[in-house]
Amino acid sequence: MKLLIALLAAAVLAAPVHWIPIPPVFRLVPGAAVFAFFFCVFAVLLREPRTYNAIRSMRWKLRLAWFRRRNGGKRDLPYACPCCGLRIRAFSGFPYRKHPKRYNPERYRDADNLVVCPCCFSMPRHRILAAWFQAHFEEIRDRRILYFAPEPSVRLWLKAHRVAFQTADLYQEADLKLDLQDTGLPDDSVQAVICNHVLEHVDDYAGALRELYRILAPGGLLFLSFPVDLRLEDVREDPSIVTENARREAFGQNDHRRVFGRNARELLEHYGFRAETIEGNSFPPEIKPVIGPADYDINILFRLQK
Ligand SMILES: [Zn+2]
Repeated sequence: MKLLIALLAAAVLAAPVHWIPIPPVFRLVPGAAVFAFFFCVFAVLLREPRTYNAIRSMRWKLRLAWFRRRNGGKRDLPYACPCCGLRIRAFSGFPYRKHPKRYNPERYRDADNLVVCPCCFSMPRHRILAAWFQAHFEEIRDRRILYFAPEPSVRLWLKAHRVAFQTADLYQEADLKLDLQDTGLPDDSVQAVICNHVLEHVDDYAGALRELYRILAPGGLLFLSFPVDLRLEDVREDPSIVTENARREAFGQNDHRRVFGRNARELLEHYGFRAETIEGNSFPPEIKPVIGPADYDINILFRLQK
């Protein structure tokens, strides 16, 4: 339906080209160009899924190509992003101020906000994970990864290194439409999972952890991260906090339902996993593996094994 509306609107707006008093054959090129332009505009405005995703993907590819042309081969720049593989002059700011209804500025005030890769938009947790994968490639090389809520910068690294993965999401475009709390996948069927910053969004994080343990094959790996507030001993959640404003004030973001505490590793072990931490501060400063952009983005990742 959206496709039809976009086609019709573009046809109506491109029609005046055919009134230009030149031979019809010369009207074809400007007519097609005007039609294509308005079709893209309407398809994006209406969010027609195929066209919208194709245009987004094209923009992403052009952006990467432009950065590779500009920064590729420059070895003297001070910073590096393992996700896109480029050296960069500086990291960009995280735009929390532009979205006051979404982010609680208090949680961003004292953390380093200049943490976003200007090329692939990676944040510290993505660069830490990519750098860890790079250093421990044998751990993931022969596993097929199920990637919940896939992040473009980590996807970029996985694709560049030819690691097999399938994406899963309940709301966004993905290979599989899955609810993390009830995936419907068979027991012991998944070799590895990446799940960054999802557990703070779901209704029942304990159910999600039990589900992840159930679907992982024995020896399977789970790479997990979520907001951790080092001032809290235990996870803080409150089912009576339901409005977006209240969630933003309590947990830092309008769709967060909890913040985890200092006992996060023991908590994960309680669900049966063998837990190891991947600590941001063990990586070189050039990838900027710092706390940020929010104070609960402490950028310690968990490597869990069933
Ligand atoms: Zn990057």
